[in-house]
Amino acid sequence: MATSLDISHEKRASARQSGPLPALAPHPAPDAPAGKPNLVGLSREALGEALLSLGLPRNQIRMRVGQLWNAIYHRGLSDFADMTTLSRELRAKLEEAFVVARPEMVVEQKSVDGTRKWLLRLAPEKPGMPGPEIEAVYIPEEGRGTLCISSQVGSTLTCPFSHTGTQKLVRNPTAGEIVGQLLVARDALGEWPDSSRNSNDRLVTNIVMMGMGEPLYNFENVRDALDIVSDGEGLSLSKRRITLSTSGVVPMIERTGSEIGCMLAVSLHAVNDETRDRLVPLNKKYPIAELLDACRNYPGVSNARRITFEYVMLKGVNDSLADARELVRLLKGIPAKINLIPFNPWPGSPYECSDWATIEKFADVVNRAGYASPVRTPRGRDIMAACGQLKSETVKARASERFKTAQTAPDASISES
Ligand code: SAH
Repeated sequence: MATSLDISHEKRASARQSGPLPALAPHPAPDAPAGKPNLVGLSREALGEALLSLGLPRNQIRMRVGQLWNAIYHRGLSDFADMTTLSRELRAKLEEAFVVARPEMVVEQKSVDGTRKWLLRLAPEKPGMPGPEIEAVYIPEEGRGTLCISSQVGSTLTCPFSHTGTQKLVRNPTAGEIVGQLLVARDALGEWPDSSRNSNDRLVTNIVMMGMGEPLYNFENVRDALDIVSDGEGLSLSKRRITLSTSGVVPMIERTGSEIGCMLAVSLHAVNDETRDRLVPLNKKYPIAELLDACRNYPGVSNARRITFEYVMLKGVNDSLADARELVRLLKGIPAKINLIPFNPWPGSPYECSDWATIEKFADVVNRAGYASPVRTPRGRDIMAACGQLKSETVKARASERFKTAQTAPDASISES
């Protein structure tokens, strides 16, 4: 998500003016106004505590929590007045003490390929200060829709090919701000059951934690947020449809499997420690062998639940046939998928994307070893959504198909669906 995050003020201003952009969310509530605690992001237990603090009798808590949960996460309501399953008296008490707030949508951009990118403002550190901004990107495809969300504002990772790597860590979003990215997306897409859409016909079917930041450095908030996102009585996105991408924070990988239980993606990007030390500096702490051991032992890993290895194609750096063969050798015995990602350059980036012929040959080696070797199709290039991470991990095309399309379409990356 690196490159796309840096929307300059000029760009923002022009984005606001041009055609399809400023479709504001139906719930533009700023996060936690007036210092009232936000109910979004609280577990059922914490919601129960919140209700107890309003003086509700203990024997009512379970039922009231269920009603609130349904209102917030199933129906997408943010105004207590609309929560008519609750008594008028309780609604008034809630209104006085709490808010149901999402991050504020600052800008919406729509790509010609249907990709939508939202710039979202989080609560400020201190009242009166501007809140930090993050992005979420929605990538629609045939039969599915993937939402890419951010786990941190900025990053501490310093990967030199990643634009986020050049940005300082500003802060860790709360669980509510992580869940809030999905709520805003559903607002903007009109996906709540009460809208005119058929509620079985879902628009956001998959979540990828592949936006800005390292999710395993904001572990508790990410875990708590994903618990809410996957709750069957609310947003109901199963953990199998949620993929968390890590640069390889080895000590947290076991906990990711046992405490979150989502699908895992690993930013491998190199097949020897010397190159990976440069591309993913965290490798100096957790080298490839340790990382792959953690993957082998990932709780729940199986042929049906494979780990995705992301590999960004950088010209002359990691894209030789010897690299491809070594990649196959390294992953032997690990239930794996491989995603080859064409590098997405950003202004001043010190790398170039490998050329298509090279990517093709690389993909062939990987294919012959039995991997589907999808090459991620860049999406939303016209809105700078596809700045590295911000493309669907599921938008896959065989390199050969991509190559053909690229030859016939002037900008295949945008027009492909
Ligand atoms: N910190 C996590 C998640 C964020 S990055 C991680 O490292 O996995 C999501 C993916 O996009 C990672 O694989 C990352 O290496 C990749 N990426 C970042 N910048 C990119 C760029 N400019 N071009 C292509 N891929 C990029």
